Amino acid sequence: MKFLLTKELGRLAKWLRICGFDAEYAADNKPASVIVAALKSDRTIITRNHRMPQGRGVAIMHVKAEEAREQLVEVCRALHISPEPAAMFSRCILCNEVLRIVDKASIKERVPEYVFETHDRFFMCVKCSRIYWQGTHWQSVAEALRSVAAN
Ligand SMILES: [Zn+2]
Repeated sequence: MKFLLTKELGRLAKWLRICGFDAEYAADNKPASVIVAALKSDRTIITRNHRMPQGRGVAIMHVKAEEAREQLVEVCRALHISPEPAAMFSRCILCNEVLRIVDKASIKERVPEYVFETHDRFFMCVKCSRIYWQGTHWQSVAEALRSVAAN
């Protein structure tokens, strides 16, 4: 299941990406353009915009919760999806691009020395070149998501 989120749901888009879901932002917020974009790329629209009509042939989910983590719970329940631990952190949080494993030696100059020394697996976004690794942040987010899944 792929998603297209409207602009006011930026934080939710990041959470969905952390969970490994394909979650794009709508380039502009006009309901007609959002619907066309969703139809073209076969995405479910997720929005808090009340002007977004229930379009013909396009799935739209209206989110009620205001806080991103509650929105994530709401979306998972309504669409019957749940964050898969194996899929977590498989996408760039900024670009929605699928991350690739990179050769450790090739990124030596791009991460702090202690990170390089203490980690073996590094991932890169081919679009923005951001480097990811399973640091402490990764752990705390994984725990937060487990609590979301348990809700
Ligand atoms: Zn990226």
